[in-house]
Amino acid sequence: MARRVSIFGATGSIGQNTIDLIARAPDDYDVVALTGSSNVAQLARDAIALKAEVAVTAREDLLDDLRAALAGSGVEAAAGQEALEEAASRPADWVMSAIVGSAGLKPGLRALEQGAVLALANKESLVCAGELILKTARENNTRLLPVDSEHSAVFQGLVGEDMAAVERIIITASGGAFRDWPFEALQHATLAEASSHPNWDMGQRITIDSASMFNKALELIETKEYFGVRPDQIEAVIHPESLIHAIVGFVDGALMAHVGPPDMRHAIGYALHYPERRDLPVARLDLPQIAQLTFREPDLRRYPALRLAREVMERGGLSGAIFNAAKERALDAFIAERIGFLEMAEVVEEVLTRFEADPGRIDAPMTLDNVMQTDHLAREMADHVMAERAG
Ligand code: NAD
Ligand code: MG
Repeated sequence: MARRVSIFGATGSIGQNTIDLIARAPDDYDVVALTGSSNVAQLARDAIALKAEVAVTAREDLLDDLRAALAGSGVEAAAGQEALEEAASRPADWVMSAIVGSAGLKPGLRALEQGAVLALANKESLVCAGELILKTARENNTRLLPVDSEHSAVFQGLVGEDMAAVERIIITASGGAFRDWPFEALQHATLAEASSHPNWDMGQRITIDSASMFNKALELIETKEYFGVRPDQIEAVIHPESLIHAIVGFVDGALMAHVGPPDMRHAIGYALHYPERRDLPVARLDLPQIAQLTFREPDLRRYPALRLAREVMERGGLSGAIFNAAKERALDAFIAERIGFLEMAEVVEEVLTRFEADPGRIDAPMTLDNVMQTDHLAREMADHVMAERAG
């Protein structure tokens, strides 16, 4: 029987890689919903090709364009936040969560509530609301499967293992676009320079987050939330080749490393076929040709985001939602060329500091309302901090 699948964020980098895998075996899947935002032409093309039930754009102003592009195809068109949530509530066996940012949280929760397995590329959901999303999965007798390459690698390293025997989890970082730049030069790094990645081909936002290591910072928090380990058990190491994605260290001193090509179709395919392994269209590594794998310690002066992630992991509560929201606004401002590259971390740190004056907010129960309200307040605070700095 064909499996019912939906893809949230279908027009993005993860979404397109997911579609690539599904389109190779169209008879195996019934596509329920595909969603996107600005790129409605791509969304409509894919929805028609995959015979989706419904295509949803997050942008209500683009509903007419989407309708026009779908005319005569039999695919329903819808737009806006409520339509996204409605599409996530349609029964499906497997849902890819690949919207970027905390905008992915609500559709992900709706998908879990109707019992779908949630393949989670949207790391922001776990950073903002880890406890809530895991609880929602448990209460609906379903589960999350990690799609971030590092977390998929850890997950694979844990198959058949007892969590009690895990001593440490090491996630690797490429070091991003600026890993070999002198620190002094980072201050003047431009948007174009931050938007190219040495090893991975990804969306613009996560590519810039790789250069600043905000992406790795989110992933440290994601590791804590997903695997339920203590912050001091989680390490990040720079590994410029991006071939080892993560390493699980056990109490007997053994390290189990996951090695694979830097191609997201591996992690997506693992989550799609789990618990089976199937043939995937990714490159096979030639070890003698690779010759060596190297590692180095990340410099915390260069990557303040990693230090902030440690503070957030220790602080817990809603501090992840504050951290992520402030980061999203600082990144918006960097993309709009309103603040410099190093200023992003300064803004996030300032927002975290100001929220410390209101500990009741950080320690409020993790309900969806509290998370969304805190996300909103942290965005406002970030805008306020940036306005103050501008003069
Ligand atoms: P992308 O920018 O390429 O795509 C983002 C998708 O989200 C698009 O379909 C876009 O239309 C949609 N979207 C954007 N804003 C939205 C909003 N407000 N409401 C609804 N939809 C919206 O991003 P990506 O690189 O594919 O990343 C997607 C997620 O996967 C992110 O959470 C990212 O951190 C994570 N991730 C990506 C990669 C990668 O290789 N690209 C690897 C690991 C994890
Ligand atoms: Mg990753």
